[in-house]
Amino acid sequence: MKCAVCSREARGFGYFNAALSRTDPRRYSDRWVFCSMRCMQPFARVMEHLTRVQEDAVLDPSDLELAALRAALAPLGDYVASLGMDRPLADYRKEDVLRLVEVVVDAYQAHMLDEHERMAAKDRAFFTQRLAAQPQPTTGANPRIPF
Ligand SMILES: [Zn+2]
Repeated sequence: MKCAVCSREARGFGYFNAALSRTDPRRYSDRWVFCSMRCMQPFARVMEHLTRVQEDAVLDPSDLELAALRAALAPLGDYVASLGMDRPLADYRKEDVLRLVEVVVDAYQAHMLDEHERMAAKDRAFFTQRLAAQPQPTTGANPRIPF
């Protein structure tokens, strides 16, 4: 099984959406496994956010994957340029090809992780702002009452 965020090997970190009832099919997916807390926590925050604001649920995993693939283009181009643009792929040594794959996979994973962390941060900022906007409770002495 691969980590749902970064595609590294998953290591026993599973997620289910505790906010949904046990009979809700969106509560659990066997794809929601992770390599680390670092990958699972932002995912959990995004899922919890989506549960709270279903009408704003614009997160499309396939869009995320496409954006991550696009993010790999520039590093791929840089690497190919470093080997020589005119060099045919058939002339690459095995190490060159392995490095090429690594450059693409690293860029893809870094983008996926950044996106998940960015969404989690946005979610946090939203709720921090909502909390700050709430009126302060008027406990204790009220300075407007002069006694
Ligand atoms: Zn991961």
